[in-house]
Amino acid sequence: MNIIDLRSDTVTKPSKAMLAAMLGAEVGDDVFKEDSTTIELENYSANLFNKEAGLFCPSGTMTNQIAIKVHTQPGDEVICDVNSHIYNYEGGGISFNSGVQAKLIIGNEGRLSPQLIEPAINGDFDWLTKTTLVSLENTVNRAGGSYYTVNQIKPITNLCKLHNLKLHLDGARIFNALIESGDTSKQFGECFDSISICLSKGLGAPVGSVLLGDKEFIKKARRIRKVFGGGMRQSGILAAAGLFALKNNVTRLKEDHIRAKKLENELLKLNYIESVLPVYTNILIFNLKADTISGNIFEKKLAEHNIKISSFGKNTIRMVTHLDFDDEMLNKTIKVLNQIAI
Ligand SMILES: *Cc1c(COP(=O)(O)O)cnc(C)c1O
Repeated sequence: MNIIDLRSDTVTKPSKAMLAAMLGAEVGDDVFKEDSTTIELENYSANLFNKEAGLFCPSGTMTNQIAIKVHTQPGDEVICDVNSHIYNYEGGGISFNSGVQAKLIIGNEGRLSPQLIEPAINGDFDWLTKTTLVSLENTVNRAGGSYYTVNQIKPITNLCKLHNLKLHLDGARIFNALIESGDTSKQFGECFDSISICLSKGLGAPVGSVLLGDKEFIKKARRIRKVFGGGMRQSGILAAAGLFALKNNVTRLKEDHIRAKKLENELLKLNYIESVLPVYTNILIFNLKADTISGNIFEKKLAEHNIKISSFGKNTIRMVTHLDFDDEMLNKTIKVLNQIAI
């Protein structure tokens, strides 16, 4: 029984070749900085984005939370989009870990701009919350995988410099953005003080994210990672999967985008679909017509055909294409979507 799992691009399983790379990894104790494969992954990732250093962490939540902790002091404020992952899906970590509050902005499909950010920056008065950090997400998960180009980011970088603010990128799906925009990772590296990249999403590694920044930032981040319980020992086994992912699974992301686009075209034809958010990369978010089928029933009907999706609110559905979703699965999904038409 073949399950088609479209709930997230985190559901991918390591391929045989990736497992072989893990099995052959040279390891040591990484808390003592003796794991050569982890060091190789950190240097490889840093170099990709033209950053001085990298830090391998168990999750993207941890890399984001460490960055917020290093860039801020308790009582400070971070500016981010209302739908951002750091605000919605990290368990309240901004306040829990850093004692920081969020100033939420309603972005354009999750994207912020200097025009939106500037009025949200507080002036230097004792009674105002101190704005110290801006965090962007690329691609934007909740907005259907919309993405920023380097040209859209540069004016934000300039604004942050002008106001002495740090700029962080939650780049969980940064490679999806780069594949579509044609920008390079090095160009992106130049725009941010810190970047978090995920290896366990569409890139297919089982675990792991890397935090990137200058040497001084990463030195502080390393200390916070230990405090958060993220110092790992023979992590080279996992880092090898990450290296394999970065070397083999980036350019193929385009296939995921093409399949998502095909699904979008099919969805638009179905009589029980109210609307589909424009599909830019590998994420599809769509609404069901309230009087035809509820999210729960839709989810159940697809499950009867071994297709898993996630309900994202009452009538809102999310599907994400990934490495383990091939053309055969795409065709079956399209067939089933048409079968359950009302
Ligand atoms: C998945 C994701 C993360 C990190 O999530 P983890 O599950 O902790 O690795 C961060 N930001 C965005 C936008 C994500 O989609």
